[in-house]
Amino acid sequence: AKSPVTVTVTGAAGNIGYALLFRIASGALLGPDVPVRLNLLEIPQAVKAAEGTAMELNDSAFPLLESVNIYDDVNQAFEGTNVGLLVGARPRTKGMERADLLAANGGIFGPQGKAINDHAADDVKVLVVGNPANTNAYIAAASAPDVPADRFNAMMRLDHNRAMSQLKEKTGTPISEIEKVVVWGNHSADQYPDVSYATLSGKPAIDQLDAEWLSSYFVPTVAKRGAAIIEARGASSAASAASAAIDHVYDWVNGTAEGSWTTAGVASHGEYGVPEGLIFGFPTISVGGEWQIVSDLEISESTRAGIDHNIKAAQEEIDAVKELGIL
Ligand code: NDP
Repeated sequence: AKSPVTVTVTGAAGNIGYALLFRIASGALLGPDVPVRLNLLEIPQAVKAAEGTAMELNDSAFPLLESVNIYDDVNQAFEGTNVGLLVGARPRTKGMERADLLAANGGIFGPQGKAINDHAADDVKVLVVGNPANTNAYIAAASAPDVPADRFNAMMRLDHNRAMSQLKEKTGTPISEIEKVVVWGNHSADQYPDVSYATLSGKPAIDQLDAEWLSSYFVPTVAKRGAAIIEARGASSAASAASAAIDHVYDWVNGTAEGSWTTAGVASHGEYGVPEGLIFGFPTISVGGEWQIVSDLEISESTRAGIDHNIKAAQEEIDAVKELGIL
């Protein structure tokens, strides 16, 4: 068997955590031959609930699950971490101003970034799920100066998967035959789902979809899917968010298939005019445990507008964080 991998999950007692942990323990995150040590981080009030989840994890008798440890101390939770899934965040509650939201999350993701810097394994990979994910990932990365910035990702995979789901529903194309979809930008209503390069069973998607459906149905349906789930379910999407986190890390560690790409929220090096360091949804391939941005695409006018809109939104949030003195 391979050597065990330490996976730290924050907000482990929450809804996404409950959907996520069992799939990690089953081998879906890293592969069917990789033993896992789980570290669960929670705030003190939620430690008891996390203990309940840990009891269930142990009772599932997963052959790959070596251990489950629960912490309310961030430094202990990230000791030796190889993969960090940062799920716990401060949600926006009624009447909360954006500045309050950013300040509350700065207070969570700053210290977590520092703890990762000081205690995690040298090969640590971090995926931020908790919203506002792109900005939280930026804050964590900025708080971890000794960890390469490309190890901090924001989850755009749920948006990517939602786009795939809409294309399947519209055209009947099996998911396995839908390629080269991308969701540019932020995990927020600003995001730009784009099928300019997509193929359905090997043929260009834009030849099979009308422009009106794309602009007035596809884009807003993907971007507002979270709200539609809340409306239908009476609760935020949780299992699909967990599933997307699994997909993201699996591909990051094990590589994307030859000739295909996915969407990951990764630090820009200036690709497509996105300012360096912004964590942004790009078309990406994964090779040897590292993401590479697909950087040679021809950009249409509408894609350009979508990217620019997201640059502005992401940059404004970072500027607000800096003004608040969080960074
Ligand atoms: P969830 O597990 O449902 O959600 C957690 C985070 O994920 C939220 O920021 C949420 O953002 C985000 N998220 C939710 N749905 C999606 C989605 N579809 N796509 C992408 N992101 C999504 O929240 P719970 O309230 O059930 O659980 C949160 C847990 O985190 C609690 O147990 C709390 O105690 C814990 N926590 C732990 C901290 C720590 O470990 N230091 C710090 C803060 C909280 P959104 O608000 O937009 O839905």
